[in-house]
Amino acid sequence: VDAASRLLSDLVALPSVNPMGRSVLGPDHLEGRVADYLQRWFRDLGVAVSREPIAPGRDNIIARYDAPGARRTVLFDVHQDTVPTEGMTIPPFIPEIRDGRVYGRGACDIKGGMAAMLTAFARLVRERPVGSASVVLACTVDEEFTHIGSSRLAEQTQGIDVAIIAEPTKLDIVDRHKGAVRWKIRTHGVACHSSSPDLGDNAIYRMAQVVGALADHAADLSRAVPDPILGTPSLSVGRIEGGVSVNVVPDRCEVEIDRRLIPGETPESARDRARAAVQCRVGSLDRIEFLPPWVVMPTLVANPETAEPWLGGLSAAIERVRGRRPAILGVPYGTDGGPLGESGLPCFVFGPGDIAQAHTKDEWVEVDQVLQAAEMYYEIARELGAR
Ligand SMILES: [Zn+2]
Repeated sequence: VDAASRLLSDLVALPSVNPMGRSVLGPDHLEGRVADYLQRWFRDLGVAVSREPIAPGRDNIIARYDAPGARRTVLFDVHQDTVPTEGMTIPPFIPEIRDGRVYGRGACDIKGGMAAMLTAFARLVRERPVGSASVVLACTVDEEFTHIGSSRLAEQTQGIDVAIIAEPTKLDIVDRHKGAVRWKIRTHGVACHSSSPDLGDNAIYRMAQVVGALADHAADLSRAVPDPILGTPSLSVGRIEGGVSVNVVPDRCEVEIDRRLIPGETPESARDRARAAVQCRVGSLDRIEFLPPWVVMPTLVANPETAEPWLGGLSAAIERVRGRRPAILGVPYGTDGGPLGESGLPCFVFGPGDIAQAHTKDEWVEVDQVLQAAEMYYEIARELGAR
């Protein structure tokens, strides 16, 4: 077995499941095991590595390679966490190499990409090619839920010229994606015995009006002027909860909202529009509470002025390995590039594997793509060093 597959197998065998907001943690939750492994791995390689606490049991691992005479510094970003394992039909943490694939939770999203970045990084350290960019390799926490890792990293990008974010893009380049904002709406009422409902004020009835307004608003959004690549914005009410018992008029009801953003929208503007839609339909926002969002994922938009100079070198490096030019795409899902790109840092998402296999019940990645990606990341560091 090649070194990259062995590395990938090691990483898959270390559970790093994102608890996705759950307060009671299971044995497979959080990124600590992967962080320990990475810290050791970088130390063994003899490079400077820092471990930055982001939340209890959740540390960004950041290593640095200083290239001889480098004029440029490239950030390689890859997340340590995976989605949960419920419903999987294969053992999530017993990696299996079969038919040219590695199976297991995170193989595709994004431990395959991590193995490829580490392999490229080790080769840069070993070979020290002249003219290469310096590389900061940042392994972040909590990409799958509230991306606190990349939000912190976004405050530390001084001296970095361009960022490459590992996600399964099938070795094509993604230079834009939708953003997202998720929040709760809570309606309030007055509880009383259900035998005399007139004495109370039913929070579920109030929420029914709110949900009706949101459904109409969602339909309007689906008819909005689309972004030429990313399409239209969207809104979905995904959860509802209210009431304590059938014989009590409920004094409280909550819904959870997922709103996807396109370029030109901000989380604030999207929430303002939803608020206006509710107010217009219900007549007033009395006893209707918009809670602060728990997910705020900015859109990633390639700024032609800052992105263009890098795109040619990036494409050339990929083409050198693969024999054909990569496509330049937009995707609907969010990445660490949202928070990182917000500060103006040019960000490109690029990695092995197909997003169709991410988060699945039998997650896998093609070994061949991981090996190619390892070579491509190496070539990218060299190529961008000359820009
Ligand atoms: Zn991912």
